[in-house]
Amino acid sequence: MTSLSEKLRELLGKPVIMGSAAETMALDDQSLQRLMHLLCDTRDDELSCEEVFNCLDEYVDCLEASHDVDGKRSLVEHHLSICSDCRDELDALVHALENASLDSRTTTEPPT
Ligand SMILES: [Zn+2]
Repeated sequence: MTSLSEKLRELLGKPVIMGSAAETMALDDQSLQRLMHLLCDTRDDELSCEEVFNCLDEYVDCLEASHDVDGKRSLVEHHLSICSDCRDELDALVHALENASLDSRTTTEPPT
């Protein structure tokens, strides 16, 4: 069994020959479709900036409660590790929440 990266390199390195190798073409089409499916599957796992923005609230809740929500936490963390925009957004949100909780603590005492 060849790995995905090997398969990619093989497919990318192979020129598309019209006519002369119909059987090889057919095989390539099949493996290409399988490859595209694999790539699509992988991309489905990756969150876009918009999706990360939308679930940052949830993510911060996860951090505070130390629990995971549908395995999303690791996906968000993965995105944060490669995207400084979303990291800034997370920082801003965390600071806003810290300020908000400080405010509420000074105004309303939680029951002990
Ligand atoms: Zn992002």
